[in-house]
Amino acid sequence: CGIVGYVGKRQALEIVVDALRRMEYRGYDSAGVAILDGNGGLVVEKKAGRLENLDKQIALVDPATLTGTTGMGHTRWATHGKPTDRNAHPHLSTDHKVAVVHNGIIENYASLRAELESVGVELHSETDTETAVHLVQHAYDAGATAGDFVASAYAVLRRLDGAFTLVFTHADHPDTIVAARRSTPLVVGVGDGEMFVGSDVTAFIEHTRDAVELGQDEVVVITADSYAITDFDGSPRTGKPFHIDWDL
Ligand code: GLU
Repeated sequence: CGIVGYVGKRQALEIVVDALRRMEYRGYDSAGVAILDGNGGLVVEKKAGRLENLDKQIALVDPATLTGTTGMGHTRWATHGKPTDRNAHPHLSTDHKVAVVHNGIIENYASLRAELESVGVELHSETDTETAVHLVQHAYDAGATAGDFVASAYAVLRRLDGAFTLVFTHADHPDTIVAARRSTPLVVGVGDGEMFVGSDVTAFIEHTRDAVELGQDEVVVITADSYAITDFDGSPRTGKPFHIDWDL
């Protein structure tokens, strides 16, 4: 199970797939990617089984549809729902604008799922994860956080119990990724005009050796040129900056 996110100037697909390959040692049963084209488009490819299954699927897709400089990737270790294509991450909101990847468990997913179903949301997987992405769409669509992707993500994160590393993207905000951790790891990779998030430094060590480890219950918002860390309530935090001076 591993997570990577990228915002920068280069094509995200290759960076994300390479990162997943480097994190294979963590173990997984499915893999997937989401690429944002910068014009409101968001494409997900995901597949149960080994990374080469995902590679094969990507090879069948017109490369133009997977072009974009923002993206994220996931390797799954199933806890809720069998290791199938459908349960693989990323998961998408109903409007196909919000995507999420997640390692860990959302403990209160059953009540969140019931809440979503009671307002007519159709869920497409058996995962605990999928609840989070629909909640972000709803927070973005109406109410106090309407139209504000980052605020919507924070509002949803505050509702989640359990252990999780979560990464959210929004097709209409392709220059921003929101990531959070509670009891599972998350590290930011600080590049030159590009920014990464990962489960560990192997996600980005090929590209930068400047990293910031997030503390317990912290959120980071990254753009190509910035990162901002807070607690779940939005109060600033610093994380733990470090330089990777060992060789792999
Ligand atoms: N609980 C989530 C699922 O079963 C994430 C599992 C993981 O850590 O990869 O899909």
